[in-house]
Amino acid sequence: MSDNNYIVSARKYRPSTFASVVGQQSLTHTLKTAIASGRLAHAYLFCGPRGVGKTTCARIFAKTINCEHPTADGEACNECASCQAFNNQQSYNITELDAASNNSVEDIRNITDQVRIPPQGGRYRVFIIDEVHMLSNQAFNAFLKTLEEPPEYAIFILATTEKQKVIPTILSRCQIYDFARITVPDIVAQLQRIAADQGVEAAPEALNVIAQKADGAMRDALSIFDQVVASTEGYITYQNTIANLNVLDYDYYFRLVDTFVAGDVPQSLLIYKEVRDKGFDSLFFINGLAAHLRNLMVAQTPATRVLLEMDEQVSGRYVDQAAAVSAGFLYRAVDLCCTCDLNYRDATSKQLLVELTLVKLCQILKPVEVRRDGAAPTVSPQPQPAPPQPQPVAQPQPVARQPQPVAQPQPVAQPQPAVNSQAAAGESRPASIRRRPATTVASADAGSVRISQLTRADDTSKPATNTGHVRREPFTDEQLLDAWKAYIATHPNEHVIVSTMQMSPPVRSGENQYTITVASAVQETFMNDNKAKWLNVLRDTLNNDLLSIDITVAETEPEHAILSPRELANDMAARLPQFRKLVDELGLQLA
Ligand SMILES: [Zn+2]
Repeated sequence: MSDNNYIVSARKYRPSTFASVVGQQSLTHTLKTAIASGRLAHAYLFCGPRGVGKTTCARIFAKTINCEHPTADGEACNECASCQAFNNQQSYNITELDAASNNSVEDIRNITDQVRIPPQGGRYRVFIIDEVHMLSNQAFNAFLKTLEEPPEYAIFILATTEKQKVIPTILSRCQIYDFARITVPDIVAQLQRIAADQGVEAAPEALNVIAQKADGAMRDALSIFDQVVASTEGYITYQNTIANLNVLDYDYYFRLVDTFVAGDVPQSLLIYKEVRDKGFDSLFFINGLAAHLRNLMVAQTPATRVLLEMDEQVSGRYVDQAAAVSAGFLYRAVDLCCTCDLNYRDATSKQLLVELTLVKLCQILKPVEVRRDGAAPTVSPQPQPAPPQPQPVAQPQPVARQPQPVAQPQPVAQPQPAVNSQAAAGESRPASIRRRPATTVASADAGSVRISQLTRADDTSKPATNTGHVRREPFTDEQLLDAWKAYIATHPNEHVIVSTMQMSPPVRSGENQYTITVASAVQETFMNDNKAKWLNVLRDTLNNDLLSIDITVAETEPEHAILSPRELANDMAARLPQFRKLVDELGLQLA
């Protein structure tokens, strides 16, 4: 409106007939039928989210019931004197009150006073009260009297976004219409019409982004559309739209799922880094990922594809990727994202939590690779892990696809600079994390063996070997269980051991012989590696050196991790040189 007759789209394209209201077909059909049959109520309640057409429909309704020559299918003619008065906002037969800002008794009295005045040049006077739930209690009561005994010509249309806040005495006097969110395809279709009308070229993908951002509200969609049109000079592409609206390119999610399928942990972490470098919040990211996985899930079955709520061109890409993964994978993946979301607020290191979620996502289909040190190529065989031995870990190529590769190269591009300086570039912690592993790497190749040796070296309390005397005091299952619980209670810092013990009580398998069944191979390895530590305490407690406990892995899904993300991280960092290396090279923060 400011200069050059510019009118915002929300206003310029406000529907003037029921037929042109977007996305509320069945509701507008009912209204038209009611009007055509002359069965009008005195009060209507229009409920629904903001921006879905409640006020617009109320205005069309008011115009239509006053039209002198309604069309055969119950629409206003838009030509008669009454219609023109409505269209020019000069009709005296419509009164609007926004209760959000006018909610006092006086405000409602103004309305009720006017109700007494009969219509001029029409049959009905229509009173629209927007956000009616905002009226004060007194105002409600003052209004109720009028609502109970309205004059023949008075019709009230109450609109609200929060039906549950409207008092029952009012609800019971109204015909209630529930407006639905407008679907993305409906919004896209409308935007396409408007773009064509304005001579704006707009990619369907871009309009899809706008529609999704609008979250079911046509008015918002039109405002966003105006904003994008203004900054793109009439040529709307997917790229300039997401840049303008600060939306995360879904290409990241497509690429991530590819890394999950390939079990490519490093690449998934690098993509996450790209996202962070662009300034996107981690929680936003993980929820976006969950939404993407959910979209793949519904894209797998033709029957549920309607739930994609997308333009066909865009949904095609989801259908393609969905075909490349199993439903089981997707269920598990969505579940992992939801768990991450749930734990996010409590996590000390949110970044680490997200990274571990990505690691787990990569492990769904390729669980073995990360578990053992079998991934030999990534492990530097050299005792001195000085330079980052670039080749294996931080594959740079896929990253190059990105337009802004500025941030990526670091991990790779500086081959020589000492590990520490690199780590320092990211966080201060990794440097110290690096230290400790460096000695372990030197000691042996295989992670599990290495740790066992270290543990044994540290272990000073092995009574049997120290004294040569073998203790063999008999004990009951109950006594073992008590010793078990005592260990749990007295070693709160040994997270992995304690949580495993909590989940897996010992079961007798022979004389002095017991078995525990753990949920994952990671736990099995960890418990075995640290066996000297916990078993000796039990032996001491029971005064019996013959006690032996075997560890087996449950046959159920290994992903039922009992480890908390941090435990898993520490565990992995302790056992897997290539994971540690990755942490260092990416400058990630551990714990
Ligand atoms: Zn008319």
